[in-house]
Amino acid sequence: LKTVVITVGLLGNPNVGKTSLFNKLVGARQYVANWPGVTVTRIEGATTYKDYTLHFVDLPGVYSLTATSVDEKLTRDYLLFSPPNVTVVVIDSMSPEQGMFLLLEACELGLNVIAVFNAIDEAKKSGTKIDKSSLEKFLRAPVVLTSAHTGEGIEELKEKIVESFKRTTRPIVIDYGKETEEIIKEIEQCVEETFNKRFTAVKIIEGDKYARAFLKKDCPKDILETISQEIKTSIPLTKYEYITNVVQLSIQR
Ligand code: GDP
Ligand code: MG
Ligand code: MG
Repeated sequence: LKTVVITVGLLGNPNVGKTSLFNKLVGARQYVANWPGVTVTRIEGATTYKDYTLHFVDLPGVYSLTATSVDEKLTRDYLLFSPPNVTVVVIDSMSPEQGMFLLLEACELGLNVIAVFNAIDEAKKSGTKIDKSSLEKFLRAPVVLTSAHTGEGIEELKEKIVESFKRTTRPIVIDYGKETEEIIKEIEQCVEETFNKRFTAVKIIEGDKYARAFLKKDCPKDILETISQEIKTSIPLTKYEYITNVVQLSIQR
């Protein structure tokens, strides 16, 4: 194996083709480990590409980076506390919205992301047209169209992983509107130095109990009580609005 190792996390909703892509990328060079402290298996594998070793981790499927289940907490803690060099967000081309939601959260966390629209074979069969450069413009991330069945896009994905490793891009930041942004700023002041204060503040607003552990002990007691239900729901709603627009402008089905 080559000496420069690039770690790559495969992130995505359940059943979007993460494991299929992983198998296509690393073949038989894979092994099973355990996530620390739990009996959930963790599958890793490596392949060489040009001067690099690409080391992949097939992460448990999740719908968001709000930790409510064990799988979600494993995936999220891995991304928060030992972020891979590159995070490949696998999205189902046939119904991309939920996957794009997760992509926006990964961007918000500040991860170095690549958006992979998988099952492009099915999309083509059904007459779906995906405008890759339009997606790249709106998502501000490299986009690769792949099929784990035909192998389309696999070599391009490896190339994009190396490019992303060498030149990290500034991910998109969603603007939640004046009122929500003011509260985000306030809460950011009350969050301990951590991986990403804005991400943590947003998660606190969404009601994430794990994120709340990062609130400073001396922060005003009533700070969480000022968060209305409207503010709370504005966070996922704004993301879905953004996604709906991007899909409308970039995908014809
Ligand atoms: P995971 O849960 O994200 O790991 O998804 P899997 O890799 O287990 O795949 C879920 C299902 O989608 C399986 O039946 C795969 O054969 C199928 N699948 C995965 N990738 C593709 C693809 O690129 N094209 C098509 N047509 N099916 C795919
Ligand atoms: Mg699965
Ligand atoms: Mg899987």
